[in-house]
Amino acid sequence: MELIDQSATRQDSTPQQVSYTIEIDPAKCVNCSLCVAFCPVEVFTEATATPQVAHPELCWGCETCAGQCPQGAIKVTATGGADPFSNREKAAPLPAERHELFAEWATTLKDILRLRWEPVAISLIPAGDPLPDVPIPAERLRYCQSLMAARRGRRLMLPANRHACPDGTSILGLTAMPAKLASGELYILFHKLDSIEAAQRMVHERPHLKPRTIDATVVTPLADAAAEPQVVAVFAQPEQIMWLCMSASYYTGHRFDFHASGYNAQCVETTLIPYTTGEPNISFGCYGCRASSDIGDDLMFMGIPVDLMPTVVRGLTELGKKAIPQSRAKIYLPPM
Ligand code: SF4
Ligand code: SF4
Repeated sequence: MELIDQSATRQDSTPQQVSYTIEIDPAKCVNCSLCVAFCPVEVFTEATATPQVAHPELCWGCETCAGQCPQGAIKVTATGGADPFSNREKAAPLPAERHELFAEWATTLKDILRLRWEPVAISLIPAGDPLPDVPIPAERLRYCQSLMAARRGRRLMLPANRHACPDGTSILGLTAMPAKLASGELYILFHKLDSIEAAQRMVHERPHLKPRTIDATVVTPLADAAAEPQVVAVFAQPEQIMWLCMSASYYTGHRFDFHASGYNAQCVETTLIPYTTGEPNISFGCYGCRASSDIGDDLMFMGIPVDLMPTVVRGLTELGKKAIPQSRAKIYLPPM
């Protein structure tokens, strides 16, 4: 796995064609400088007693500054977001038989597991590849937010300038990583880890893709996939995830070593681990995705490499004949 490019500059990590205004209300500001410390890309300067917006062109629109400001003094507004792909070649639609297959997989998973949410097809579009016919939203979203929207039925293509989370965007290879994230400094400010050494270890042990090797993330309901997915994400309760684990090992008995940490859940744990290892992976979510989406506290996540899906669907179908209904009927429950 490639290590993060520690020499990334501010310009390297700035999404193209983003435009935001950042306003500080001087009547509310108490000059605590938390916005300066938390902004991952050094938009603010402390050259004066009151923080000033010195480099609005570097802003990602992540709203970390607004979220951390104890006074509610900061307002971040998107003022433009050009389509970076206006002249780009479009990909041919998926063949009908692939659509039918993905729809069949989705129906099997939903019916046997009784899933509430749509399984989601995830496609990372390599730089320069033709693009599927999926809308680019007007708003910017964190990657985890886009997955949560897709589980409800939305189809979303996010180039770098529609991604709102610097962490996920750089991990997924759309940009380089901002220096404050690569160094681990920001995780200490968030009180997520005990020391800079622990933060650096967490950063270095998580996988990431080489900067600018991916042009866009595409997420859609699996039944409505617009591009060949690399990973299928499932949002489910632990009992349902257990059956998926058993389905994946139904023919081999293989036990999985899951990579879960509570950091970077959707970008690393649900997406990149299955994408880079070819193994399914589970995630319990992370602070970021739980704070920025409507994920229920009872839900966890699984990313399944698409090549494993035929095995999972066949295994689940077998388990659905007897093992799942018997278990759900609590056939071994003793008399109370
Ligand atoms: S975080 Fe808020 S109160 Fe503190 S300096 Fe920045 S704008 Fe002012
Ligand atoms: S929205 Fe994010 S990138 Fe923009 S100024 Fe605030 S913290 Fe910095």
